[in-house]
Amino acid sequence: MNDDIQTVLYSEATIQAACERLGKQLTQVYRGKNPLVICVLKGAVPFMADLIKQMDIYMDIDFIDVSSYHGGTQSTGAIELVKDVDQDVSGREILLVDDIVDTGRTLAYLKDLFQDRGASSVRVCMLMDKPEARQMAEMQADYVGFNVPNEFLVGYGLDYQGKYRNLPYVGILKPEIYQG
Ligand code: 5GP
Ligand code: MG
Ligand code: MG
Repeated sequence: MNDDIQTVLYSEATIQAACERLGKQLTQVYRGKNPLVICVLKGAVPFMADLIKQMDIYMDIDFIDVSSYHGGTQSTGAIELVKDVDQDVSGREILLVDDIVDTGRTLAYLKDLFQDRGASSVRVCMLMDKPEARQMAEMQADYVGFNVPNEFLVGYGLDYQGKYRNLPYVGILKPEIYQG
């Protein structure tokens, strides 16, 4: 699996340092607030696990799964709710944790969902932000690990055809992997 990677962009140590920095920041933001921290499946699983260990506060955690429909080669922008959270979000301080914000559509869908359900706040922590790919300009994460180039990344939760999520780092695949 490691042989399929052309370039490592963010090493395990670099990612860990980002989790420590973000965790300290979020500890200050949420101290005494008992937030509900929601992991967006499946890409945010490794990041969620490392991030919450750096937050020295009481919290609840939950999981949601959404998928975006793609009509042909173009994203249609339609988002499907695959698995909902278990907990009531009304009156809760919500922290959404996801892997990467690209067009911003997933984030827009999730923020609306929790605001409509009466969350008292919805903040967003993203491991990575790809600002050049944004189609919804107002969709900004509140806390970001790395601003990344407009390339297709894998590892540390991010997949290509379901694989590579278990790499401990984020990297770029060799072109021959796509070409098959
Ligand atoms: P958005 O709705 O912002 O366009 O898309 C966000 C989702 O697209 C991410 O949660 C992720 O699943 C996927 N995505 C966006 N960029 C990349 C990338 O570079 N690599 C991989 N593997 N997935 C990506
Ligand atoms: Mg995702
Ligand atoms: Mg994917």
